[in-house]
Amino acid sequence: MADGKGRGGPGAPGAKHGRTGGPGPELPDAADVVVVGAGQAGLSVAWHLRRLGLTPGSDLVVLDRGPGAGGAWQFRWESLRLDTAHKVDDLPGMGELGLSFATADRTRAAREVVADYYERYEQAFALDVRRPVEVTGVHEDGRGGFLLTTDRGDIGARVLVNAGGTWARPFRPYFAGAAEFRGTQITTPGYRSAEDFRGKRVLVVGGGTSAVGFLRELEGVAAATVWATRRPVEFTDDPDAGVTAVRMADEAARAGRPLPSIVSGTGLPATPENLAAAERGLLVARPMFSSVEPDGVRWADGTFAPVDAIIWATGFRAELTHLAPLRLREPGGGVRVEQGRSVRNPRLFLAGFGPQASTIGANRAGRAVARQVVAELRAPVADPAPVGWTGSPRSTHTGSGARSMVSSAPDRTRRRSPMT
Ligand SMILES: Cc1cc2nc3c(=O)[nH]c(=O)nc-3n(C[C@H](O)[C@H](O)[C@H](O)COP(=O)(O)OP(=O)(O)OC[C@H]3O[C@@H](n4cnc5c(N)ncnc54)[C@H](O)[C@@H]3O)c2cc1C
Repeated sequence: MADGKGRGGPGAPGAKHGRTGGPGPELPDAADVVVVGAGQAGLSVAWHLRRLGLTPGSDLVVLDRGPGAGGAWQFRWESLRLDTAHKVDDLPGMGELGLSFATADRTRAAREVVADYYERYEQAFALDVRRPVEVTGVHEDGRGGFLLTTDRGDIGARVLVNAGGTWARPFRPYFAGAAEFRGTQITTPGYRSAEDFRGKRVLVVGGGTSAVGFLRELEGVAAATVWATRRPVEFTDDPDAGVTAVRMADEAARAGRPLPSIVSGTGLPATPENLAAAERGLLVARPMFSSVEPDGVRWADGTFAPVDAIIWATGFRAELTHLAPLRLREPGGGVRVEQGRSVRNPRLFLAGFGPQASTIGANRAGRAVARQVVAELRAPVADPAPVGWTGSPRSTHTGSGARSMVSSAPDRTRRRSPMT
């Protein structure tokens, strides 16, 4: 393992920080690939990289700040079940373990089932996720790679896969007066149970599946509900709706524009339950209000609705805060990403981003990203870094630019993939 000397070029402030002591996971000084996030996207990438010959824990290090397995799913509300969620796709290789979300227990909370299955998956494939480790900043190391600062010390990476999801970045639109509202205001991650709203007049804002789920749970518990959406609500059973949404997100990501709302492409599912709820007036949305007042909201026509609580189910943004030092933002406000790869920095991958932000998209990202990562590691080195820069004993650079880590990948894959 490298001693870490010589790591961290100009503008890599984390290089001067020492390793954090105390209990918790240990980090190597560096690795060929660091994956940030062990949700569906990060696990899928890690599984494919392992199959392609990387060794978790040395060549490949997966970091996650969560307390346990499950990615964002571990934090979802108790009442959410796998059949009230959309379809949750299986991770690659999950079938080899005899696990499938399609046949999982629908009576258990989705957060428990997903956390349980992810944990078994991580262990069976020895993915060696290091948690809790929070990546606080990512800096260029001056040699084409990265230096990550974390709450457990620094770690270098030749290639970085960011798979941080969106859960920590709920988006709440600005509304005049919202700061003075006297009632309860939460965003989707703050929702625990309909009981918290018993007897209250609740405004639910947002046109997605979460908003619909909240309204259905609140029926008969809240004193009254009102639903406001930016666009008219469309219930659809068009099988191509998802394709349109993915295409729109892909176009935006390639152009570096802010990502569109997925619902703007898919509409809401026209299930019998949703259609019946619309029929009885529960799922009938009003256009957005114009301002929030201390005890309710004012509609554009000047009328007032008194409310005790507002649930902002108004979407999420990608968790890219720690990537800020890389200055990836385009003038249009987005980040340019093609096939899960940053256009500005080809050694940076964003798995689960934009068109990949679903469990099926995250799975596809895993395959596509892992192949590109391995190709990047194999690429000739234009300006070789000193031997011993990376933390993996098998992944030292050589003067000729050969990368020993992946050059023998096929053999190692055969030797070390008991699951295949
Ligand atoms: C309410 C809700 C319901 C959904 N239901 C479905 C559904 O039914 N089907 C479906 O396909 N999709 C659903 N989605 C979308 C879903 O989020 C994705 O499908 C998928 O689970 C996301 O996986 P991910 O790996 O991209 O992100 P996550 O599961 O969020 O995992 C990201 C991980 O990165 C970690 N992380 C982030 N930043 C850092 C950092 N700086 N340092 C260290 N670790 C970090 C987080 O701790 C987290 O564990 C839903 C989304 C929401 C909000």
